Amino acid sequence: MSDTIVIIGAGQAGGWTAKTLRDKGFAGRLIVVGDEPHDFYERPPLSKAALQQEQPPFSALFSAETLAALNLEWRRPLRAEALDRAAREVVLSNGERLRYDQLVIATGGQARLPGREWQAHPRVHTLRTWDDATRLRAALSAGQKVAIVGGGWIGLEIAATARGLGKDVTLFESQARLCQRSVDPAVSQMLLEMHRAHGVTVHPGCGNVTLGGGAGQALIRSDVTPEEDFDCVVVGIGVTLNTELAQRAGLAVEQGIVVDGRGRTSDPAIFAVGDVAQHPQLGLCLQSWAYAQNQAIATATAMLDPQAPEYTDGAWLWSDQYGRNIQILGLPGAGTQTCVREQPQGALYFSLNARNRLTQLVSVNDARTVKLAKRWQSADRELDPAQLADPAFSLMSLK
Ligand code: FAD
Ligand code: NAP
Repeated sequence: MSDTIVIIGAGQAGGWTAKTLRDKGFAGRLIVVGDEPHDFYERPPLSKAALQQEQPPFSALFSAETLAALNLEWRRPLRAEALDRAAREVVLSNGERLRYDQLVIATGGQARLPGREWQAHPRVHTLRTWDDATRLRAALSAGQKVAIVGGGWIGLEIAATARGLGKDVTLFESQARLCQRSVDPAVSQMLLEMHRAHGVTVHPGCGNVTLGGGAGQALIRSDVTPEEDFDCVVVGIGVTLNTELAQRAGLAVEQGIVVDGRGRTSDPAIFAVGDVAQHPQLGLCLQSWAYAQNQAIATATAMLDPQAPEYTDGAWLWSDQYGRNIQILGLPGAGTQTCVREQPQGALYFSLNARNRLTQLVSVNDARTVKLAKRWQSADRELDPAQLADPAFSLMSLK
């Protein structure tokens, strides 16, 4: 049994690791190192409610009572700078060395920027932290013309929120279609039409987006669009995962830190959770709320009980845009066919492989069918595309 567990990173995955360890009876020292000044919090509201309201409530992961009951030793705001695996120590930015019996890396990722000039520019924003959201909210209330660089989930959610605030929004995406990596073409087309219908000027397929102008201007141009000045520029072009601690310590790192189904890295005393931990079966980093929570819970459980079940959940995430709840179950696959079922509240996009098994479902305002489709996936159920697309056919008959 461990005496001391150190968690690096006080985000959602770090928080669920700490809570689960206590819930499952860990009574030793639990030390959390976080480079933000805040308690654990959730990020999904940052691109939604936290930009809409003047004084949004802090999106705390746990109530004050729950947090106090965890009896944590905080080291914040401080960075973990290095790992000494031989001595089982974490070296902090203030020089302190923390000895651990077991270590959890929960360091997430940081927003990417296209280049150095973007970093220093006062009108350019990224959105990863609570403090980023506070700055962006002020910029959105002060300006009218908003440019969004990147048409992934973060760019689309901010576009929808900014339109809700009455802003003029122009979105630049380098790929030919929106959310290209995470959904099939029919869904990208639906997203494009939805944003255009809500008044967003969307430029897909624009390479070489550049930023010019001094502090008083933010001139954005691309291969296919002329230079235009914006009051506020938001960049959502993906994240760089914070794998450097693991890499420098010699742990196995591919897309993210390599872990098994119990969150264990290539060092048996070190675990990784959340965005930074590569999915044990899928071999990619999912970067979603559900994975950050549930893979962390599974890992913390297994840290105390090595026979605990492995984490095997597939991909699931959601996005809220223009009052629509969009849920994405599974991953896009090569060679799939997508059939669309039109429903009054919004369409369903079923992608099937050559064996007529569901690879991905994207639902608009239909959480019930997503639940059902999870069962189809785990039962490896064969599906009939004609039935799925026929609104007169009851999907619930496929229970
Ligand atoms: P993070 O939340 O990134 O936490 C990592 C923490 O570790 C951070 O506080 C970081 O500063 C800290 N840290 C890093 N390095 C160090 C170090 N060396 N020392 C100390 N501390 C360190 N997912 C969905 O499924 N649906 C959504 O609608 C959705 N909306 C989102 C909206 C936004 C704006 C963002 C940014 C993400 C959204 N996500 C959504 C994704 C989801 O929030 C993330 O997958 C989740 O937050 C990952 O949690 P994490 O704890 O692994 O990483
Ligand atoms: P993302 O999903 O990777 O999307 C970024 C998009 O920007 C990609 O299509 C990317 O194309 C494109 N791009 C890259 N460089 C560009 C450039 N120079 N100019 C224009 N476009 C460019 O990442 P994200 O939307 O920034 O999201 C960041 C993180 O937040 C992720 O971890 C995401 O999961 C999380 N998040 C999730 C949700 C949700 O699940 N609802 C909501 C918000 C945020 P390439 O693919 O070619 O790089």
